[in-house]
Amino acid sequence: MDNLRRQYLKAMGIPVWVRRDQPAQAAPVAPEAVAEQMPGSSVVAAEAQETSRLDWPALGERVASCTGCELHRTRIQTVFGTGNPQAQWMVVGEAPGADEDRQGEPFVGRAGQLLNAMLRAVGLAREQVYIANILKCRPPRNRDPRPEEVSCCEGYLHRQVELIRPRIILAVGRIAAHNLLKTDVSLGRMRGQCYRYSDTDIPVVVTYHPAYLLRSPGEKRKAWEDLRFAARICAEGG
Ligand code: URA
Repeated sequence: MDNLRRQYLKAMGIPVWVRRDQPAQAAPVAPEAVAEQMPGSSVVAAEAQETSRLDWPALGERVASCTGCELHRTRIQTVFGTGNPQAQWMVVGEAPGADEDRQGEPFVGRAGQLLNAMLRAVGLAREQVYIANILKCRPPRNRDPRPEEVSCCEGYLHRQVELIRPRIILAVGRIAAHNLLKTDVSLGRMRGQCYRYSDTDIPVVVTYHPAYLLRSPGEKRKAWEDLRFAARICAEGG
């Protein structure tokens, strides 16, 4: 393991044990673990049909002025997404929190710092990836998104995915995984599998939400394994 990687793992809070009797090696990821499951259901509702023709600037404007659900009443601003619109990696989280609502950018709080460190651990700078959420507006007191809020918002995310056409989508956390893949299988059971986003062939890999990892640092190593699994799928072309 090179020094840079060791530093990133340290930044993620993952202890690195090095055997003295042999050079340290990364744990192998079984290629058999790549299973195609659950093609996902179409997210195209009547309103999303129109959204699906918008270009990038028009989509941004549409989101910024959205009043499709009750969340527009309590938001400070919408949180569209950030990063490279030609990214190979797209990271999808749940919804903006208080910091994101204030700053208009996803994952800028403590969870965002950890997400940045997780990405760096697999050699990715935040600016290289595209980061978005299932919801573009903050739910009050950070409660879980409601189904009607998700259906109002999912056409926007779908269009973002269409425009970016990432090589891999990393769903961080249960809410992102369940809503992207239209399932309620537990996150633990979804880990290590390769799914497909909606009606596309874009691979989706799930991992823990960085906010959960801040509360349960013992699980960080599993998240690192998930990211390496995603990196491998991306390198192999899905
Ligand atoms: N948690 C999320 O899921 N998304 C954010 O943007 C911030 C915190």
